[in-house]
Amino acid sequence: MTASLSDLFAFHRNDGLAVGAPDRPWLTYGGLRDLASHSVAALHAAGVGRGDRVAIVLPNGPEMATAFVAIAQGAVTAPLNPGYRLEEFEFHLSDLGARAIVLPEGYDGPALTAALRLGLAVLRLGHDAADPAGWFSLRAESVAPGEPDRDTARPRDVALILHTSGTTSRPKIVPLLHRNLAASAHHVATSLALTAHDRGLNMMPLFHIHGLVASVAASLAAGASVWCAPGFDALKFFGWLETARPTWYTAVPTMHQAILARAARNADAIERAPLRFIRSSSASLPAQVMEALATTFGAPVIEAYGMTEAAHQMTSNPLPPRAQKPGSVGLPAGPQVRIADEAGNRLIDGLGEVVISGPNVTPGYEANEAANAASFFEAEGQRWFRTGDQGRFDPEGYLTITGRLKEIINRGGEKISPLEVDGVLMDHPAVQQVVTFALPHPRLGEEVAAAVVLREGMAADEASIRAFCAARLADFKVPRRVLLLEEIPKGATGKLQRIGLAEKLGLVSP
Ligand code: ATP
Ligand code: MG
Repeated sequence: MTASLSDLFAFHRNDGLAVGAPDRPWLTYGGLRDLASHSVAALHAAGVGRGDRVAIVLPNGPEMATAFVAIAQGAVTAPLNPGYRLEEFEFHLSDLGARAIVLPEGYDGPALTAALRLGLAVLRLGHDAADPAGWFSLRAESVAPGEPDRDTARPRDVALILHTSGTTSRPKIVPLLHRNLAASAHHVATSLALTAHDRGLNMMPLFHIHGLVASVAASLAAGASVWCAPGFDALKFFGWLETARPTWYTAVPTMHQAILARAARNADAIERAPLRFIRSSSASLPAQVMEALATTFGAPVIEAYGMTEAAHQMTSNPLPPRAQKPGSVGLPAGPQVRIADEAGNRLIDGLGEVVISGPNVTPGYEANEAANAASFFEAEGQRWFRTGDQGRFDPEGYLTITGRLKEIINRGGEKISPLEVDGVLMDHPAVQQVVTFALPHPRLGEEVAAAVVLREGMAADEASIRAFCAARLADFKVPRRVLLLEEIPKGATGKLQRIGLAEKLGLVSP
């Protein structure tokens, strides 16, 4: 088993294509290895070495993808959302204890101001004629005091520090070791049977685990290629299918829905696309969307279940000839996956919390003892992590996530899974997207509400949508309010957020 990130691509053919991008020559595996050595030398020149934390603030795209793997050889990488404001950069840079920051050449925005205030070493990423790897070069603009530790990273060193998506509460800081990332990259590559003939299209943000591991690290582990788009754009997607010729891509459900909404106008590009499969992860993929994607693209849709704390993948639907089950996140695909009761006892049959154990799981949240105490437990000589998700296995070993424990709606003691209500509403012919959520209620505690986006050119009103639900759901599960919206607010990683939606929509005071 590969133990650290650099081992992932240590032995692939020099001339194999590793990373591509619009209007750029391909970076080969030989070039990637050169780039890693060059980056480590530039870090040392900036006084930064093993164990030091380097914030990476770059636009989404190929530089971000390669800087992450290259810098991780010599220091700890901490990609930050480039859309943060000054206060957010200041907060995160000091919270992480960053010693250096990587910024694009010429950038003088809020991340630089924050870094200068905190006295960090600044490294510039640019493209120049003397570029040693023909892809980018790093230059130390200012230097951190003291001598850096010049050792290369070891398997149990932290490689990456990320934040959870903040869907259910304030984002938590998750350190991931080299061995966590290497294990997860291999798990994804194995589930998808990636080979040097595959080419992934990355559109996921690279300050989130999904893109970093499923698109980038898994491709590198397999000697495959990854083509990095600047970010998600449903209008440009069909053009990228033609120019990049990907054999697969991975995305969150909201992206798949945006792609499907434009599919009819791009039938030729879809017809010519060489997609072997489409992957979905990071949030529940409605069965209706999965089926529409599979039919539209004529390719299997592989839904997988991942989270930051697991360095991404926990389960995955299998490739054909085995079945991809709509509404299920598939079979354990890496760590051990079990269902447990509140005390942590294994439940062989039935509904409970999903718990995991394996080489991909974080050693623990940083500076958050309360969250660690609540999330980890020992059983049968192993360390288990509570995912906070509720689920059950079917007799064939496929897992279904029934919801997040924190999102279960409690209506006067009746527990309602918002995912179940979403599933019914998605069957309504005029509904394109839905988020069922809890609305505070003076007597019941919580009441069911749903935010709905209608399909283009379709009409429906609140009363008829509620009547549609009433014909298919027990009375207590029928949304008391249905809000018709142009768009449902999303978090930075593209996820729909149920918790706090009532406040965001102005239905209750925060
Ligand atoms: P926070 O922990 O800060 O509230 P978050 O849990 O959304 O945010 P991530 O680590 O990005 O942060 O997401 C992991 C969660 O996403 C999982 O725990 C699960 O709830 C959900 N998830 C991921 N993949 C799927 C899937 N295929 N089906 C259903 N839920 C999924
Ligand atoms: Mg979480």
